[in-house]
Amino acid sequence: MSQKTEFAPMPDATGYFGEYGGAMVPPALEKAIADVEQAYRDIRNDSSFREELHDLYKHYVGRPSPIFYAKRLSDALGGAKIYLKREDLNHTGAHKINHALGEALLAKYMGKQKVIAETGAGQHGVAMATACALVGIECEIHMGQVDIEKEAPNVTRMKILGCKVVPVTFGTRTLKDAVDSAFQAYLADPESQLYAIGSVVGPHPFPMMVRDFQQIIGEEARDQFQEMEGRLPDYLMACVGGGSNAIGLFTAFLNDESVKMIGVEPSGKGLDTEEHAATLTLGTPGVIQGFKCYVLQDEQGEPLPVHSIASGLDYPGVGPQHSYLKDVGRVKYQSINDQECFDAFMTLSRKEGIIPALESAHAVAGAIRLAPQLSSDQSILVNLSGRGDKDIDFVVEKLGL
Ligand SMILES: *Cc1c(COP(=O)(O)O)cnc(C)c1O
Repeated sequence: MSQKTEFAPMPDATGYFGEYGGAMVPPALEKAIADVEQAYRDIRNDSSFREELHDLYKHYVGRPSPIFYAKRLSDALGGAKIYLKREDLNHTGAHKINHALGEALLAKYMGKQKVIAETGAGQHGVAMATACALVGIECEIHMGQVDIEKEAPNVTRMKILGCKVVPVTFGTRTLKDAVDSAFQAYLADPESQLYAIGSVVGPHPFPMMVRDFQQIIGEEARDQFQEMEGRLPDYLMACVGGGSNAIGLFTAFLNDESVKMIGVEPSGKGLDTEEHAATLTLGTPGVIQGFKCYVLQDEQGEPLPVHSIASGLDYPGVGPQHSYLKDVGRVKYQSINDQECFDAFMTLSRKEGIIPALESAHAVAGAIRLAPQLSSDQSILVNLSGRGDKDIDFVVEKLGL
């Protein structure tokens, strides 16, 4: 969301990006979702809302986040220069605060008493709890029991911030189940609550709204990179769970034909196993949680269980705009497995003194794979979507030191 660029024209008026997207919600939610869309349309062009949000981006989040040239990493690989867009330096340690603040301000504008949300790695939960504390609104976060155990520090943070954490004990007890659980809680009282989705997924208008709040990443990066290097990067690289940090980086560059874009999904234990979350690589078009996108699904159209060591990437669907961008070929999607992710996590830590989130380490791994195939006058801009403090105990338990 910016003062200087127009909003991207997609989706169409009914919330479709090509054939993907839409809002397939139970009749009981139709009015509530339509109200959210109307409220968002009211405020998105309202200068006082934009000013309030941009003021928070600057003075609360610490934007603009810098771009850092990772020289030691680039030199070691011998190829393209790798740059990092440091979303890990934002308040709360990831890109999610960008849309959490937008959603919390929207909830306040709509006069809601409570924000409900799901979380995977706990990052969206922490960002939402933070934004709700700041705006002065109640917050309830649904989180899979598996993730609660894995991401204990984030659970504690949410509680300190005054948020109610609801453990989800059905299904695989991870992100998709947390979304189902949060949706149920929202259905119970859509009038006084707002469901604040944590990525560019879910029914329209969420994929559009969350993207608009995240596109600040690419707007800043485009200017910053041009100022540093006098040109645009050759490649953009970002990890894709639902796809918010990736679309946040990509949006400002979509019309720059020279800029190639790569989204990195988790292939977990391998694409030939059943334990991955490579939705765009191996999924097929289908419907999940109120919208159409690529889905990892069984023959009945039920979402398959998914796996990644990065809880934030562990989702059997993906944003409708990514589904569209894949089909039209504007963005290429690749996958990185758990081991490559661990390697990138350690490599970035030791070469640059930056501990990345396991999610972001997928994007770093994508750059590590690509850089040696390119020449030293080419560049890769990686979206470092978050910091790895939340993951250190898990990594040490898995790898030792
Ligand atoms: C949640 C999260 C992601 C994945 O979400 P997207 O919507 O795909 O961006 C990636 N990185 C970090 C650090 C996260 O917290």
